[in-house]
Amino acid sequence: MENMRRHLIIQHFDCDYDFVEDICRNSRSLYKIERIEISPRKTLPEHLLLSPKSLLAKFLMRKRKMVYLDDLQGELKKHFTYDSKEIILAILPHYVLGFGDDLAGLTLEPNLSIVSAYGIDERYLSQACVGISLHEIGHNLGLKHCRNEGCLMKAPCKPKNFYNGVYRLCKEHENKLMHIKTRK
Ligand SMILES: [Zn+2]
Ligand SMILES: [Zn+2]
Repeated sequence: MENMRRHLIIQHFDCDYDFVEDICRNSRSLYKIERIEISPRKTLPEHLLLSPKSLLAKFLMRKRKMVYLDDLQGELKKHFTYDSKEIILAILPHYVLGFGDDLAGLTLEPNLSIVSAYGIDERYLSQACVGISLHEIGHNLGLKHCRNEGCLMKAPCKPKNFYNGVYRLCKEHENKLMHIKTRK
């Protein structure tokens, strides 16, 4: 079973999230990932965060802390060795420039996904972040997007898809996952 050999490492930056345990639990039940490690919280280096260079920029940024996607990816590469069996899931509270509108998660490489909690409605923060994380992990495992309502892999992957706290794959994707798991 291929997925059982994958190793999920969850790395959160600059904030503690109580939903991380939920990501673990659901990754175990949905994807049968058994080796999961929650890395101790790290601080994103100050120089990576954009600082406003004018009053106008300051006004536009308000209280947002922003980081460029490329810089973030570069930083992550310093911390992780990128073993092909590993999946790194980075979670952070900052606005990521490069994510595009309304996007809260992105799978950059087969073994790297990033989830930003920025701007997600506080009332549904846990549900949304768990759902988005599971969607991205799905990509890491080789799953593609879906048109079926209620499927974790439904695109676009918006926070509100998960406000109800339900995380499930459609039959098609469940089969696909079985196929991936037993292929090797
Ligand atoms: Zn996606
Ligand atoms: Zn599906």
